[in-house]
Amino acid sequence: MKNLFFLLNIFLCSVTSVAQEFFKNDDLTISKLKDKTWVVETADNTTMYILEGSERAMLIDTGTKCTTLDEVVRKITTKPLDVVITHLHPDHAGNICYFDSIYLHPADTVMMHEYRYNGKVNYVKEGQVFDLGDTKVEVAYMPGHTPGSIVLLNRATGDCFSGDAFGSGQVWLQLEPHVPMTVYLQSCQRMRQLMEQGGICYIWCGHYPYVKRCYDLEYIRKMEVLAKRLSVGDTEGTKPFNIPPSLHALGRSVYLSDGEVTIVYNADKIN
Ligand SMILES: [Zn+2]
Repeated sequence: MKNLFFLLNIFLCSVTSVAQEFFKNDDLTISKLKDKTWVVETADNTTMYILEGSERAMLIDTGTKCTTLDEVVRKITTKPLDVVITHLHPDHAGNICYFDSIYLHPADTVMMHEYRYNGKVNYVKEGQVFDLGDTKVEVAYMPGHTPGSIVLLNRATGDCFSGDAFGSGQVWLQLEPHVPMTVYLQSCQRMRQLMEQGGICYIWCGHYPYVKRCYDLEYIRKMEVLAKRLSVGDTEGTKPFNIPPSLHALGRSVYLSDGEVTIVYNADKIN
């Protein structure tokens, strides 16, 4: 039975889609990824996703600078909108000011002081389901990139909207507030299990313009191997990682890579 499920999973996961451009302005481009699913790519390479069900719609993340983002979303759907933030970095929550109410994981509120937000903050929890009518979207808690990183699952379509939880080729774990590698390893294991047995096929990352595709099970397996090595102190092959000074990057940034998959971490604070 498990083998049958595995074969079925391979078949389902082999069906891919090409995004078709739907709307464009100076700030962003919106393309249809698949039925009732749109990707919003901003000019500075951040990403949002819009999902539409029969009753409600969902905006996943809010990008950086996108003028009147609320009105732009209304070009896609006029249904009541749930705005869900995968994590509270400014390139994912930059336009929350346009919305009266947002959802995020409470563990990321340690960064809330970076925003002046007067709307209502609703906290999500593991396993919470947003009922959009004919579409259900489930919250899965995946700490690592931030303490409150979540991914959003549509098990019916096999889609996972991952924010930065598993990076866009490289995942950044060198940031403050710090999350131990052992905790990130658990997130990788959880994500792999969701792909092996939970019907998830496609990981749509938080910086889609860099990759223009989704990630698959092989990507997560490689990520898990790297996280496992680092969590037990095996850092062989690590190289210095040079990034411009960032609000959240502290310590000595280094990286460990396996082809298309890279973990950037703080050499002085792995766990
Ligand atoms: Zn981030």
